[in-house]
Amino acid sequence: MLFSCLEKEIRHRFVDVSQKAVNLDLFPASVGLRSQALKLKFVTPESRGVFLKPTLPFEEVLDMIDRRFTAQLPGPIIRRSHIGDSLSIIYSPFHVDKKLYDSVLNQPVSPDLPEDFDISGLPEWKQKRGLNFLSTLCPHCGWDLDGQQDSLVLNCRNCASVWRPIKDNFVKLNTAHLPEKADDLIYLPFWRIKGNISGVNLDSYADLVRLANLPKVIQTGMEKARFHFWALAFKVRPQNLLPLTRAITLSQPGEMFSPGVPSAPLHPVTLPLKEGVESLEMTVADLIRPKSRMAELLPGIQIEPKSFLLVYLPFHQKHHDLVQPKFNLSINRNMLAHARNI
Ligand SMILES: [Zn+2]
Repeated sequence: MLFSCLEKEIRHRFVDVSQKAVNLDLFPASVGLRSQALKLKFVTPESRGVFLKPTLPFEEVLDMIDRRFTAQLPGPIIRRSHIGDSLSIIYSPFHVDKKLYDSVLNQPVSPDLPEDFDISGLPEWKQKRGLNFLSTLCPHCGWDLDGQQDSLVLNCRNCASVWRPIKDNFVKLNTAHLPEKADDLIYLPFWRIKGNISGVNLDSYADLVRLANLPKVIQTGMEKARFHFWALAFKVRPQNLLPLTRAITLSQPGEMFSPGVPSAPLHPVTLPLKEGVESLEMTVADLIRPKSRMAELLPGIQIEPKSFLLVYLPFHQKHHDLVQPKFNLSINRNMLAHARNI
């Protein structure tokens, strides 16, 4: 999801593109819709063929994509964020028979090549190891870990812990939940992030009231209540991301959390902490009221995340929506189901 902060508004769009990673004019600029439409396989050491080494740095490719997708925006872009991005190297097959052929379509994509053209002279990339498997037993108590196919973390129902795979191990995540009793509950995951922010005062709840120009009278307790950043730990459509983040950030859930995961059903964590951190600048931009102050405040704002907590918040499963009246939140169930495929 590409977010661009302009002088008085934030624009968003969904981006799913491929861009050639080899710096050679010979090959087409992208694989088009193929990366979305065809079934892909993992590359393993046994995969046949010569795999060319990517020679264009990802930052350069990302910059080209950004320019392509923001060229039509009116006015200067003050800040830009990529939220929920995932990068894959996709190999598409070609072969040489006087010309260069796209091996999927078996059609030439180049004029006749010089007699001495030798594809084996190009830098090659060697896949050293294949897929890696980890035993899904709780490192703490030995119980079977739970998780859905798209989940980035696994949960232990026995000791209520949450684990994230890093390289060949599981690392325990700081996790809490807000206890609630009802028959129709599902818990959604959020990242609560503590951090230092400079360029604008946002240390307390009172600062938040002032920044967002909320219709509230500042009371003494509000100056002492510490402000926390909140970010979604689950995928939504780009148009839903900032409104939901704004609602949860303004609510500042601060009730007594219980440690670990609840026993009720859980929605999987599908947005990693890194993406939560990436969303913080846009969250602050989106809080600013009146909007005319965005251009003045944003360029000076720096956020340095310090610590985090994965918080599961309870929602009631209604016919069309998941609702949490305490935080004024309502999330469309269809949207949530579709967003899992983003
Ligand atoms: Zn356990």
